[in-house]
Amino acid sequence: MGGRMIVDAHLDVAWNAIADGRGFLGPPAPGYLISRPALTSAGVGLIGATLYTAPALARRAMRTRFVYENAHEAHIMAVAEVNYYRSCGLRLIRDSRELVAYVRGWKRGQIAAVLLMEGADPIETPSQLGAWTDMGVRIIGPAWSRTRYSGGTRAPGGLTALGVQLLKAMRRKRVILDLSHMADRAVSDAFEMWRGPVMSSHSNARAIVPGDRQITDATAAEVARRGGILGISFYPNHLRTRGVTTLDDVVRHALHLARAAGGPEHVGLGTDLDGGIDSRFGPIRNLGELKGLPGRLRKHFSAAQVDGIMGTNWLDFLGRSLPPPKESRRASLR
Ligand SMILES: [Zn+2]
Repeated sequence: MGGRMIVDAHLDVAWNAIADGRGFLGPPAPGYLISRPALTSAGVGLIGATLYTAPALARRAMRTRFVYENAHEAHIMAVAEVNYYRSCGLRLIRDSRELVAYVRGWKRGQIAAVLLMEGADPIETPSQLGAWTDMGVRIIGPAWSRTRYSGGTRAPGGLTALGVQLLKAMRRKRVILDLSHMADRAVSDAFEMWRGPVMSSHSNARAIVPGDRQITDATAAEVARRGGILGISFYPNHLRTRGVTTLDDVVRHALHLARAAGGPEHVGLGTDLDGGIDSRFGPIRNLGELKGLPGRLRKHFSAAQVDGIMGTNWLDFLGRSLPPPKESRRASLR
């Protein structure tokens, strides 16, 4: 028995490698936690691997020069990230059948990914979305800070006209909507028009950590009503407003979000580890410490609910939200 598969819905693996030179295949860079061997030995079997691109205004916040000035530059950067995942031989899960087959055959030591675009500026125009889904993108968060599509973190605003077009294209292509980083107005705009699967990959409870980066109890409840999942971020500033974080902070957000959502079956992990995190302030110092989380969650949840939070909730959600295999999609169009 290799134990249950852990799922982490948000890791900026390609960004870390390309923008910061912290490669995926060896041991983690000093002071960091994420790499393929670290993930597989911790029992993580599926990740949301992001295509994150930083706008020019993020130069200071992200301590990077790898930024875009316009949509075309964002496009080139995100394609480079897709190619990074390919170069690593990271297996991409593209449809519900591939997911079922992967989960059924999974053994500890294996890892696969679902591609998640964080900030949609790399999509130069909504009509280009098909090229991205062909590359394997299955989840899109339209915002990071403000993008051409949506108000974002500390950049209030709704969906733009282009954003409305993008969501319509996403629905046609059966892409999952990620609310993380979307400004409050954009979230309510999206709820008004969106009928597809919705999630937040890496956002914590605003009731515990104030600010527009975290989600309100009302948003958590609405995501849950629509069958979605809320991924808990391990980013220190998302776990508590000050001081050193521990796994107990993760549990506190899990408990709060589970209550707001109406049940722990709507909670999962979206750690965002290494996405600009200084691990000295994070809740774990190496991924091996993740094994301390289930026991802490068990004080509040049943064993099955803990398995859900650690991975099966995401697997169930992806199983019903990823598109069906291509052949059956063609057949159903006849
Ligand atoms: Zn983020």
